[in-house]
Amino acid sequence: GARDVAPATLFDKILSKEIPSEVVFEDALCLAFRDINPVAPAHILIIPKHRDGLTGLGAATAEHSAILGHLMVAAAAIAKQEGLSEFRLVTNNGEGAGQSVFHLHLHLIGGRPLEWPPG
Ligand code: 5GP
Repeated sequence: GARDVAPATLFDKILSKEIPSEVVFEDALCLAFRDINPVAPAHILIIPKHRDGLTGLGAATAEHSAILGHLMVAAAAIAKQEGLSEFRLVTNNGEGAGQSVFHLHLHLIGGRPLEWPPG
């Protein structure tokens, strides 16, 4: 749409199955798949199917409240499905924070002890 002025990302190719991924959860609004370069035994990316201007969380406005809530609830369901009672949910916003794909995504990480604070 007109609000998606940022270039398409590789997550569009994952959504279209042009790039294969190991999907662990999917519904009408989101897709969750295993990260290709996992930082922990469980490392799942959860993305909205429609970016809708959300290049990252920093672009969120009140109109994104429903999808953002949906992604959080999906994360809880996926953690449960993966048998994770201890996990971390992270989103990187901006290159300096480690973001490399500009389609909002949550990293669900677990399966090993997670130190805090992170680096
Ligand atoms: P970011 O760095 O933007 O927070 O997260 C992007 C994530 O996408 C990284 O953790 C990276 O390993 C993952 N990634 C990059 N390319 C691919 C791919 O082709 N397939 C999958 N499954 N993950 C990818």
